[in-house]
Amino acid sequence: MKAAVFYEHGDASVIQYREVELPEIRPDEVKIEVHYASLNRLDIFVRNGSPALKIPLPHISGSDFTGRVVEVGSKVKEVTLGAKVAVNAAKFCGKCQQCLRGEQSLCRNFSMVGEHSWGGLAEYAIVPARNLQVLPEEADCRKIAAGTLTTLTAWRMLSSLANVRPGNTVLIPGAGGGLSTAAIQIAKYLGAKVIVTTSKKEEVVKALGADYVINYIDNPNWSNEVWKYTKKKGVDVVFESVGEATWEQSLRSLAKGGVLVTAGATTGFKGKTNIGLVFWKQLRIMGSTMANRREFEEAIHLLLNGTVEPVIDSEFTLEETQEAEKRLEVPDRFGKVLIRVRGCQTTE
Ligand SMILES: [Zn+2]
Repeated sequence: MKAAVFYEHGDASVIQYREVELPEIRPDEVKIEVHYASLNRLDIFVRNGSPALKIPLPHISGSDFTGRVVEVGSKVKEVTLGAKVAVNAAKFCGKCQQCLRGEQSLCRNFSMVGEHSWGGLAEYAIVPARNLQVLPEEADCRKIAAGTLTTLTAWRMLSSLANVRPGNTVLIPGAGGGLSTAAIQIAKYLGAKVIVTTSKKEEVVKALGADYVINYIDNPNWSNEVWKYTKKKGVDVVFESVGEATWEQSLRSLAKGGVLVTAGATTGFKGKTNIGLVFWKQLRIMGSTMANRREFEEAIHLLLNGTVEPVIDSEFTLEETQEAEKRLEVPDRFGKVLIRVRGCQTTE
């Protein structure tokens, strides 16, 4: 099969479009013909490599994709041949204590499709059958591929962890990527008032449902603006994915008893925390990665019923993956970068 593969870590130039051989599937796995994939920060992180991440090379990344089942392992019961599917990239053992209580993203043997095993930036991919959700035939495989990872991540953060309720105020700093644009739509769906800081496309952010938009270039001390807008109360929830650049002001924006939930740190991991603020205001800081099985299914429903409409920045072919990964790192990018593999077609 053809794949966007890299044989060494480095910048986008290490990606090669070439023929590679896919291994045999295991009894609990299926082989998927990939229709559409979308890129995430994780793809860049894996490609760049780090001392903490030991993966065998060559590697194929890609943790967000849709396709059709073309081969099923002997023990697979969850899906049948020919099914159109969405993929949850969070791999779990199904046997540990966390898995047994339904918290698969906290699995002791947790790993990611596209990080610890080959992913979807290829004509075919192999995943455990329990990581799939069957889609209706009429489902838009492009839209689902654009929104799966971000929607399930934002859904767990806002719904399960931060427990957002109607009337709450949610702050989303640094909107521009797939995760924050999904978060705006989910926070609105949950009945919250949404404050967003961004440096671009303010009109698009408003169209997604944001009630109040702060340009952080014009207002570098944007937490003061949040303070004014909330009549010196602060926000109930901060949805963090920016990290170091926004951390301090994100914490300062919280109301008493507020919760900050984080699932990323694109600008760095060393955020400054005023501990006095944390105990005096009785703040909670929560971390989140991916989602459990139930939240994954709910996220797919939010995409199917149009509650979340993924914002798409650009689209490339599999052969153009190198260009696509460069696009992901351009500062003016807004929304998801898509990779069209086979496209949304039926198999022969
Ligand atoms: Zn487990």
